[in-house]
Amino acid sequence: MKTISRRSLLLSGAGAAVASLAPASLASVPRRPWDTVVVGAGVFGAWTAKRLQEAGQSVHLLDAWGPAHSRASSGGESRMIRAGYGADEIYTRMAWDSLPEWRALSERSGLPVFHETGILFFAPRIDDYFRGSIEVHRRLGFPIEVLDGAALRRRFPMIDFAGIEAGLYEPRFGALMARRAVQTLVAEFAFAGGTYQQEAVRPLADAPHRNAILLASGAMIEANAFVFACGPWLGKLFPDLLGRRIFPTRQEVFFFAPDAGDSSYAPGRLPGWADFNGGDIYYGFPDLESRGFKIAHDAHGPRIDPDTGDRTYSAQALADVRAFMARRFPRLADRPLTEARVCQYENSSNGDFLIDRHPVHENAVLVGGGSGHGFKHGPAVGRYAADLVLGRLTTPEPRFSLATKAEQANRAVH
Ligand SMILES: Cc1cc2nc3c(=O)[nH]c(=O)nc-3n(C[C@H](O)[C@H](O)[C@H](O)COP(=O)(O)OP(=O)(O)OC[C@H]3O[C@@H](n4cnc5c(N)ncnc54)[C@H](O)[C@@H]3O)c2cc1C
Repeated sequence: MKTISRRSLLLSGAGAAVASLAPASLASVPRRPWDTVVVGAGVFGAWTAKRLQEAGQSVHLLDAWGPAHSRASSGGESRMIRAGYGADEIYTRMAWDSLPEWRALSERSGLPVFHETGILFFAPRIDDYFRGSIEVHRRLGFPIEVLDGAALRRRFPMIDFAGIEAGLYEPRFGALMARRAVQTLVAEFAFAGGTYQQEAVRPLADAPHRNAILLASGAMIEANAFVFACGPWLGKLFPDLLGRRIFPTRQEVFFFAPDAGDSSYAPGRLPGWADFNGGDIYYGFPDLESRGFKIAHDAHGPRIDPDTGDRTYSAQALADVRAFMARRFPRLADRPLTEARVCQYENSSNGDFLIDRHPVHENAVLVGGGSGHGFKHGPAVGRYAADLVLGRLTTPEPRFSLATKAEQANRAVH
């Protein structure tokens, strides 16, 4: 099994470190039974594997295409981390608890995993969602600034705040470099003695007994416990159980080049932002690492198959973001498109995560339902899932249970 040196991790950055994690041939995978096998090296699987390893377990991590690969939900450039969730304290706390772990990972990594850009939400006026965020933050002692229209216009002159009189600014939060973060984590996991293998796992129902799973190659891997953190593929691995409870939707993301020499959209001047826009949310990031100004529409797109879905951006989505930019970021409205990506949210019915035991195979844990907001919570999700595997979870959160996952989509978490 190929491992990497700490020197290559620190000096070369995560991409090079993971590049050195060549897909293991089966012959090189030790054939011992593992304490836990984690299937899926996205943000949820990677953090779960790390937590189990920290608890002293032998852990084997598998992914069909590689950590944070281009079609994984975790495979994008950047993801927002913020604690504002309206009155939804559970996610506020999880984001807050996760932030120091992302910061620590960023410090260990050769290149930044976290950029403290600040996060700005804005809306015409203070509504219930904003009131809830303010109340929860103040009660928990988390920093949040409430800005009126004049303050918004003064501090962020690159945004046209017409019709906007309320802003919430979280100075300690910002952007996670998603692909780099997951690849760094997996490299660290391997460096610490964990094993990683690039192989697809067959549905659990095909397994010969409760302590085994089958790979696409036909080989068998044995373990005491299994974690399935397969994101938008969960419904394919568990069609009867999750096929109608995980709703992958097509989401489009665009990057634009600012004018030559224009640093108005650089981190430090423009924060990560979301315009609540009467419930039809647009969000984006500054020009992180010179990749371009990023913008996306948060509305759920049509259903997508993560394997076969077309990854070509649509002219309509591009026209929508340009129309939005003409209103809020007028100097960018006609700037060149530099990149577009089609990704998917892996939604649960209401946006709550799924972290629960399989109802029949009680040594298997299902982790997913990130629902377009899961990335930031990776450290907290990994801890919860690991505690479930280890039998340490004293008070399970009902909202993460399989029983609460409906077959009708009705988004409630933003
Ligand atoms: C456009 C977009 C914007 C987003 N913005 C944000 C944001 O700003 N902030 C935020 O917090 N979150 C955001 N999210 C959500 C967040 O990115 C996801 O919730 C999170 O990445 C999901 O991670 P995951 O590990 O569950 O899934 P994934 O990253 O998809 O990982 C699942 C892995 O399982 C593997 N797998 C599947 N089946 C098998 C199999 N049979 N055998 C082996 N391996 C298998 C896959 O190859 C994949 O690598 C966004 C998502 C998208 C798409």
